[in-house]
Amino acid sequence: MQGIKEEFDADRKENYVSITDFITEQNKYEFSCGKCGKIFFADKPTFENINRAVEQGLDNSFHCENCRRKYEEAAYETR
Ligand SMILES: [Zn+2]
Repeated sequence: MQGIKEEFDADRKENYVSITDFITEQNKYEFSCGKCGKIFFADKPTFENINRAVEQGLDNSFHCENCRRKYEEAAYETR
């Protein structure tokens, strides 16, 4: 049970926003949603993660919350 609790705590710590749709002091790296092309701003580690995924040919590596929600709804409807 201990392990589960630690994971949960780690999740909570990451609860700061590393992707926003406006520029902030830490989120100043511009990128766009792979689906709708909407512009977002990420902090450096998040931006580097996205870029790494794109370089590896995993396109559409980032989907904004809107697109993700739409996708989930579509997946649910086709079931
Ligand atoms: Zn999108």
